[in-house]
Amino acid sequence: MFKLALNAGHYKYTAGKRCHWEIDPKQTREWVLNDRICDKIQKILEGYDGIEVLRIDDTSGEIDVSLKNRTDKANKWGADLWLGIHHNAAGKKFSGGGIVAYVYTKPSAEALEWQKALYNAAIKATGLKGNRSTPLAKKNLHEVRETKMPAVLMECGFMDSTVDCPIILTEEFADKIAEAYVSVIIERSGATKKKPTVLYRVQVEGLSEKDAEVFEEELTGKGYVPTVTAYEAVVEEPKEDIPEEEPKEIIPEAFVPYKAQVNTPSGVKIRSGAGTNYAKVGSIKNKTVVTIVDESKGAGANLWGKLSDGRGWIAVDYTVKEKN
Ligand SMILES: [Zn+2]
Repeated sequence: MFKLALNAGHYKYTAGKRCHWEIDPKQTREWVLNDRICDKIQKILEGYDGIEVLRIDDTSGEIDVSLKNRTDKANKWGADLWLGIHHNAAGKKFSGGGIVAYVYTKPSAEALEWQKALYNAAIKATGLKGNRSTPLAKKNLHEVRETKMPAVLMECGFMDSTVDCPIILTEEFADKIAEAYVSVIIERSGATKKKPTVLYRVQVEGLSEKDAEVFEEELTGKGYVPTVTAYEAVVEEPKEDIPEEEPKEIIPEAFVPYKAQVNTPSGVKIRSGAGTNYAKVGSIKNKTVVTIVDESKGAGANLWGKLSDGRGWIAVDYTVKEKN
């Protein structure tokens, strides 16, 4: 686990540490600018595994933590890198400026590597390369002297510079420089981007009020936080399904045979076909019940019926249909 001690220099009310009033009428305080960059660095690094960040200053800006307390805290924690974020000023108004990276007067080889990498990344990202100071500087400053780990103090531009100040006040600059520092820290610390945790949402519709309550209770019991919402059911009118009319095949109705009783005193004659023009082939006595298996029009009667026994046809007019 790589440990980064991150220090936003000073605190909100440090006298004199502010933007030049002629350039920035709000006279933005140095800590506010330092804090903004530190916050961004921390926020980005939250998305990485294998790295821990400890803010060394008071993040509310209200308490002026002493320099000794700050370096003690980082030493005790066992930080792998100290990154101090500052903004420069000399008091008078100047036009020159630029980013400066400080290490101790007798820096470790590792500190020098960090200094160079952080400075180069910051210049590449912001273009705030100045002319006012030695960009890769060594100085006997508390932050870089009293820290046991490699320590770099970055002066991220001049608050009294007509060139730097309008730039360093912008959110865009803070984003760019924070990303630049992070890129170096990621590369050198071996931190890796966190894998996103994939979660699932289940939506069930169409439950009755009672079922919804049961379901809600069950899920709550399992430690979930279900959201139950009521909605008005939309009842769709069933569309009348009008099937295309298919041409009907005309199937002749099958003749249903029936029983009939001969109902004439003289009985009926049987003919070989449906009509008196056919030959007589027999006769049936009155009151005899016969089964008619077919009907046909024919001469001499309104209707002729074919006998089931195959003997021929009789005039149905002289019979009474039996009730089924
Ligand atoms: Zn400072």
